[in-house]
Amino acid sequence: MHLQASKLVINLVEEAKVVPPAESLVFGQTKTDHMLVVHYDPVNGWSTPEIKPYGPLTIDPASSCLQYCPNIFEGMKAYIGPDGEARLFRPQRNMERFARSAARLALPKFDQEALLTLIKRLVLVDKRWIPTKSGYSLYIRPTLIGTHTGLGPHYSDTATLFVILTPSGPYFTNGLQPISLLGISETVRAWPGGTGAHKLGLNYAPSFLPQMEATAKGYDQILWLLEIDCQDGEKGKKDFRITEVGAMNIFLVVQRDDGDLDLITPSLDGTILPGVTRASTLALADAHTRGDIVLPNIPATVKIHTYEKPLTMSLLSSLSSQGKALEFFGVGTAAIVAPINKIGWEGEDVVFPENPYDETRSSTIGRAMFEMITNIQTGRTQFEDWGVVCE
Ligand SMILES: *Cc1c(COP(=O)(O)O)cnc(C)c1O
Repeated sequence: MHLQASKLVINLVEEAKVVPPAESLVFGQTKTDHMLVVHYDPVNGWSTPEIKPYGPLTIDPASSCLQYCPNIFEGMKAYIGPDGEARLFRPQRNMERFARSAARLALPKFDQEALLTLIKRLVLVDKRWIPTKSGYSLYIRPTLIGTHTGLGPHYSDTATLFVILTPSGPYFTNGLQPISLLGISETVRAWPGGTGAHKLGLNYAPSFLPQMEATAKGYDQILWLLEIDCQDGEKGKKDFRITEVGAMNIFLVVQRDDGDLDLITPSLDGTILPGVTRASTLALADAHTRGDIVLPNIPATVKIHTYEKPLTMSLLSSLSSQGKALEFFGVGTAAIVAPINKIGWEGEDVVFPENPYDETRSSTIGRAMFEMITNIQTGRTQFEDWGVVCE
C-alpha cells in the first residue's frame, strides 16, 4: 500500500503534558505529546499511519539503522502568526529533499504529498505546543530509518518513518549576535562524490569531535574547507574552498565599486547541502533587485547581485583586507541567519566589521533576510506560496 494520509489513525495521550514557558526551552530538548509513526515492508508497503503518544521505539539490535546508518532526516518548523494559524515554510522543498535522501540510501519511496498532509495533521494535534513568542517556533523532525534485521551490509528493505516535534527558541541563545568560526581543512564534512548534498544522519557524527576542538579553542562553529589546487597558477600552492559553516550554508556580502552589493554562496557541487534557507535568501535578494519587494532597511536603489560560485579562503582574505567583505553569515532553518564576526585561519583571524548587527547598523543583508524570512514564516508578509497554512 502507498503512504495514505486518509488512513491516518489518531490515538491521543490520556494526560497531556504541561507546556513549559518559552524562555526555558533548549533547542531539541522538549518533546510534544505526540508523534507520527508509519512502517514499511516490501510485502504490505506502508502501514496505516498513526499519530500516537510520544515514546520509545522498539528496535532489533541487528537493525540496519543501528549498524550501517541508513538513517535520513529533515529539519523544518511550524510557526504561529498574529492570525493564530500554524504555518510551514516551503515544506514541499523538505519533502523533495527527504525523498532524494531516501533514494540515495536505497530506502523505500513514499508519497511526498501524503507525508506533508500527515505532518500538517500532527502539527495541528500538537498546535498548543507552538510557542507564540517572537523568534520561537515548533521544530519538526521527520526521520526515516532502515529496520532490516541481519548483519549483511546491504540495503534495508524495511523501514520506519517517524516525525517528532520540539518547541524551540532562538538556536543561538544570543540571537543575531555574531558568532566566530574556526577554519578546518584536515577534516572535511563533504567531498566530491560523497554524501554532503543529502541530509543523512551519517554526515553529522564525524563533525562532533572537530566541533569539540573548535569550542576548546574558543570558536563557536567550524568553517568547513576543502583543499584545492590554487587557481592563480602558483605551482604547489594550495587554496581552500569554503563549503559550509557548522550545519548551515554560507553567504558573503561584498561591496562593489558601483555601490551595489554582491551576494555570493558556494554552488551546489555535491559538497553543499541544498538548504531551503539558502534558496530563499537567493530568491529574496533577486526579488529585491528586480523591484518586486524591498528588503527591510535596504534601500530599493541598492541592487544585490547574487552568485552561486566557488568561494575560496584566499579570495575571502583579500576582500577582507581591502575592507570589501562586508558580511559573512550562515543560514539554515534552525538559526535562520547567523552573522559571523571572525574566522580563525592559519593562526590568524580574518575579521568582519565589528558587530555589524548592532542597533546602529541595522541595514545589513543578514538582518534583512532574517526579518523578511521570519515575516513570511509567521504570515505577516505574503511571498509567492512560501507560507503554507496547516489545515
Ligand atoms: C539542514 C542543513 C542546512 C540548512 O538547510 P535548510 O533547509 O536551510 O534548513 C545546511 N547545511 C547542512 C549541512 C544541513 O544539514
